[in-house]
Amino acid sequence: MKIRVLGCHGGVSPDHRATCFLWGERLAIDAGALCTGLTLDEQLNVDDIVLTSSRLDHVAELGAFADNVFGRRKAPVTVHCTQATADALKKSLFNNSVWPDFTSVPSASQPTLKFKAHAPGKKFNIGELEITLVQNKHPVDSVGVMLGGPQGHVCFSGDTGPTQAIWDHLNKLKDLRALFVECTYPTSMQRLADVAGHLTPTTLAVELKKLAPPPACPVFAYHLKPPTLSETRKELRALRMRELHLARHGDIYEV
Ligand SMILES: [Zn+2]
Repeated sequence: MKIRVLGCHGGVSPDHRATCFLWGERLAIDAGALCTGLTLDEQLNVDDIVLTSSRLDHVAELGAFADNVFGRRKAPVTVHCTQATADALKKSLFNNSVWPDFTSVPSASQPTLKFKAHAPGKKFNIGELEITLVQNKHPVDSVGVMLGGPQGHVCFSGDTGPTQAIWDHLNKLKDLRALFVECTYPTSMQRLADVAGHLTPTTLAVELKKLAPPPACPVFAYHLKPPTLSETRKELRALRMRELHLARHGDIYEV
């Protein structure tokens, strides 16, 4: 299966795009770059979106995406997330004030978007994939996403500070093929990272030690903030971990 990086940053500039990955052609994880990363025709192929958080760097282009596919699809696009994230988006984005309520247009029975809430820890399926959301440590609701398919498992950490839940979950798996893990700030901003529920290269190194045995698969750091990206990248390189790479938008990984 191909994972296409449409956006892998915790912010936006002409050179950086907010978080968004495409699994195959029909499933997106987060929607930070769903429109700027895909052609209009490619957007029409997206049937399901799994959101890790309601924060803008994860949902920024969900509204524009709904507008682009509105009236052009036979079935609604299903947005999978926690109840808290669904509630936040319905209240603050799809409220007919900030943006049309695409969960009820063109009609309530045949809307553009359909939210499906999932409890963390409870498995659900999208096609042949088995998916589990894992609760993170973050000031607002945020989850990691575990995707299990015929070739093995892939994990997207979502936004989190130091945690145990994801590592406990991953330690039960025998077939992890790739781990995408957030690393938002450089260590010089450790205090902010701790308050905001994010990782730095220093805390990421501690977190990865919770994996037993150590990861044999590629580990892709993502969600770096654009203004401090070079400082964070330098620190990540200094960790000298063979499996650790920096996710880059435009890249396609085969898992
Ligand atoms: Zn974020």
